[in-house]
Amino acid sequence: MNTNAVIYQDLDRILVTREQIAAAVKELGEKLTEKFRGEEPIFVCILKGASVFFTDLIREIDVPLTTDFMVVSSYGSSTKSTGVVKIVKDLDKPVVGKHVVIVEDIVDSGMTLHYLKKVFANREAASVSIVTLLDKPARRRVDLKVDYSCFNIPDAFVVGYGLDFDEKYRNLPDIGVLHPRIYSDAEK
Ligand code: 5GP
Repeated sequence: MNTNAVIYQDLDRILVTREQIAAAVKELGEKLTEKFRGEEPIFVCILKGASVFFTDLIREIDVPLTTDFMVVSSYGSSTKSTGVVKIVKDLDKPVVGKHVVIVEDIVDSGMTLHYLKKVFANREAASVSIVTLLDKPARRRVDLKVDYSCFNIPDAFVVGYGLDFDEKYRNLPDIGVLHPRIYSDAEK
């Protein structure tokens, strides 16, 4: 898909290109291969936003990992998280004694991952690591240690490479800032 494609016309600008993403994912895969050498970690994809990142990332990791999937939703409006997270779809297998790697699309307030980290610790995982494609550190509301982040980004609403607005734009190969007219149109 080239950047003249129809859905690119809803972007204000491209923030991270597909080439930058591919290079960062490869580098992260190498770091995770080193970290988990000799182990058999479980990589947990937080659906749906992390799906594209997750499928690219696991193919860059050279250890015998397993995968599992979780759907979470945070209570509150689409723009304001209350910090209360509901597990809509839980993992298929227990994580007791396992090294868990949570793979997220973006860390914003940090409340979703703060909650999930506690959930996995209570389930007696051997360790819990947090991996995110994007991080908005300026928006953090809780003290959260992000173990691996590919890109720090400014406080803007982004879409593409799995991230949506109203379930759209997940299929953009690059990550872009959504044009404000799209939200205002949606609020009308
Ligand atoms: P947190 O609990 O860290 O505030 O929320 C993280 C979640 O908020 C992400 O998994 C994502 O679903 C959503 N989110 C936060 N910022 C953005 C953004 O810029 N674009 C999109 N598409 N989702 C976002």
